[in-house]
Amino acid sequence: MEKLKFTELGLSPEVLKAVDKMGFEEASPIQTAVIPLLLAGRDVIGQSSTGSGKTAAFGVPAIEKIDASLRAVQVLILCPTRELAVQVAEEIGKLAFFKKGVREVPIYGGQSYERQFRALEAGAQIVIGTPGRVMDHMERGTLRLDALKMVVLDEADRMLDMGFRDDIEHILKSVPPTRQLLFFSATMPSAIKTLISRYAKNPAWVKIEEQAQNAPQVDQVYFEVDRRMKIELLTRLIDLHDFRYGIVFCSTKIMVDELDGHLHARGYATDRLHGDITQAQRTRVMEKFRQRGFEFLIATDVAARGLDVDDLEVVFNYDLPNDAEDYTHRIGRTGRAGKSGRAFTFASGRELYALQNMAHYGRLKIRRESVPSLDQVEEARENVFFEKLRATLKAGAYRKQDRMIDRLLEQGHTSTDIASALIHMMQGGGAPPPAAAPAPARKSALPAPAAARPSAVAVPAVAAPPKAKPAWVAARLEPKAPPTPAEPVAAEPVPVENDGAPRKNKYERAPRTGREPGYTTLFFNVGRKQLVTPADLVGKIAGVTRLPADIVGAIDIHQRHTLVDVVSEHATAVIGKMAGIRVKGESLQPGLATDHPAE
Ligand code: AMP
Repeated sequence: MEKLKFTELGLSPEVLKAVDKMGFEEASPIQTAVIPLLLAGRDVIGQSSTGSGKTAAFGVPAIEKIDASLRAVQVLILCPTRELAVQVAEEIGKLAFFKKGVREVPIYGGQSYERQFRALEAGAQIVIGTPGRVMDHMERGTLRLDALKMVVLDEADRMLDMGFRDDIEHILKSVPPTRQLLFFSATMPSAIKTLISRYAKNPAWVKIEEQAQNAPQVDQVYFEVDRRMKIELLTRLIDLHDFRYGIVFCSTKIMVDELDGHLHARGYATDRLHGDITQAQRTRVMEKFRQRGFEFLIATDVAARGLDVDDLEVVFNYDLPNDAEDYTHRIGRTGRAGKSGRAFTFASGRELYALQNMAHYGRLKIRRESVPSLDQVEEARENVFFEKLRATLKAGAYRKQDRMIDRLLEQGHTSTDIASALIHMMQGGGAPPPAAAPAPARKSALPAPAAARPSAVAVPAVAAPPKAKPAWVAARLEPKAPPTPAEPVAAEPVPVENDGAPRKNKYERAPRTGREPGYTTLFFNVGRKQLVTPADLVGKIAGVTRLPADIVGAIDIHQRHTLVDVVSEHATAVIGKMAGIRVKGESLQPGLATDHPAE
């Protein structure tokens, strides 16, 4: 469905600034269709449901039409419920943020008249109210509508269902005949058509059709979830399924930035794409993602449009897409080439209706599941850990620790207890006694919920970073406080990682300098000269070898080379797999540091 940029809609700089601040990147189909009609003075009948962006579709032109120097009501928006009135007023408030002198007020039953009088007296030009309370104010003479330019009936079908027909007719009869009239309704029963024929003048009809979509072979699930729980649900699903490669779609740039920050702080290897990121940076992020340099891309639809990846394990609709077409486009990036893909959609509150509508008209098959419990996540992690442990034992891929075990046996501990204590420690269960900790600097158990999984950019202290680091890279590498959550993160902590090892938070790692036992130092032929960063190397190593980023220890960047500590048992694999891989335009020739005379 056609969409335009807000800059193509003939809007004022103040409104353009506001939509940008709200993080909207392009107008939704209903906005693209309705805004120019309203700006041109037409009456409009919009058939579209919640979630389509209808509030801004009428809110933007309403704000543009206000004469700010006139302290009189110029726009009246009628809503069926107090919740919707408050929500619409909030959205209008944000859209009018930079318009000096433009004020809005919600008026609804249940709130004191006094407060509403004061706001009306102060000269609010946009009134958003429920029909009953609007009538009350009109009768008391506290709401005068003689300067009215526009009346909006939001969710008109619901208002009629709720018995507001007489009130609505009374209001429409009392307003100046020159006003513009706008009906928004998900359905068009005959009672609405009658109202339209009586009160609208040559209206333009805008219907946003949901087309049936050919959904790809993707297992599609949705979750009904409180907005504040979305991040918790996201991390639970990632952990439960042990996903390592996917996209998380958000509707705004702001949400992308926030979520990227939250996930990063929880130790997931993420990066982000949205319209404010320059083309050169986007290209870098996309390239890195294609090469699996990080696990999850957080993106808006606009930014992800040019991204050519099709082998994702999962797509998350953290925020709902505009319509079924966008939905299908998003989820089509997983489940290709005969592989099974998963698509998880989150819907909170009213988004549920929007999703149901989208699924119905787009003929999508999305089944509902309930939010996985922490126990389920725990069990899944335990299974992953168990399998890894079993594989390690089977392959004999560990160093014998006979002496330490003999000492413990001599002290009277059974072998079962020793093994249980070790597993307990590895799963983050309490601080281990220093002598028994296998690698204290890396395996410290962290207090929940800050414990995070090793991130591809979770690097320990490093040698001097390159000077000419672009600001956005710096912002993502330097230890930063996780952003203040716009929404409180759920209370239940998720304390351990998929492989049972404690989740580590990069902000809590102790700086390390010299070489550590159990690690082998590798030589890489890139350094400060190539502007290489620790994240470049850790991300690349994790992405290419598919080993956890955690196997990388200290990184020492020199002018023309870098020394990287890796867990000894993986040293050969890292050298083998990284040979010939390009980093900063340089083909890597890794080797043991001991083979390089200078070292
Ligand atoms: P509505 O259909 O008006 O209830 O809007 C649903 C949600 O979409 C609200 O949270 C809006 O802030 C958001 N929204 C509206 N227009 C856009 C847009 N052009 N881009 C991104 N989000 C939008």
